[in-house]
Amino acid sequence: MKKTIDKRAFYEKLYSMLDDITPLSVDCGGLCDGACCAVTDDITGMYLFPGEEAMYNPLPSWAQIHDTDFTYDGGKEVNLITCDGTCDRKQRPLSCRIFPLVPYVKRGEKMKIVMDVRGKGMCPLATAMKITDLSPDFVEAVSKAMKMCMLVRETREFLYALSDSLDDYKMI
Ligand code: SF4
Ligand code: SF4
Repeated sequence: MKKTIDKRAFYEKLYSMLDDITPLSVDCGGLCDGACCAVTDDITGMYLFPGEEAMYNPLPSWAQIHDTDFTYDGGKEVNLITCDGTCDRKQRPLSCRIFPLVPYVKRGEKMKIVMDVRGKGMCPLATAMKITDLSPDFVEAVSKAMKMCMLVRETREFLYALSDSLDDYKMI
């Protein structure tokens, strides 16, 4: 029998693992004037993990959810969340919580946590630092949260597709 999970409980747990933790022991927003939260256009946002939409019902006033062409697991659509730069920190999406790190995993291989190539040029941490320069507590929390995602088929398949998409960035 196929096991279903309570999406809201799943993401509440993941959010709690990354609630009070930041990439550096100081506020890194001072390095870049909060570049990752700056609103540059209507379509730049962060991917929602599968079922994470459950955390945005009702949709907060600062957020919008959009369809994308990005798919995982043979055609399941991934949604994108955009914001007006003023989210309630307790509600920020998982992709924001782990940035500038991202999981990278290929089928049959061990997951790695890497600097997010999509942040290069925008985020000073992703551009000029190594993972070892970040807060070890942050790196560990991201790693634990992503290992939890690897235990669930939907999120595992999403992470495979996300990792494949990161390869495209490396080729640019
Ligand atoms: S862009 Fe990078 S350095 Fe700036 S606030 Fe975001 S994570 Fe921190
Ligand atoms: S949702 Fe929040 S943390 Fe994420 S980019 Fe928007 S303001 Fe920043």
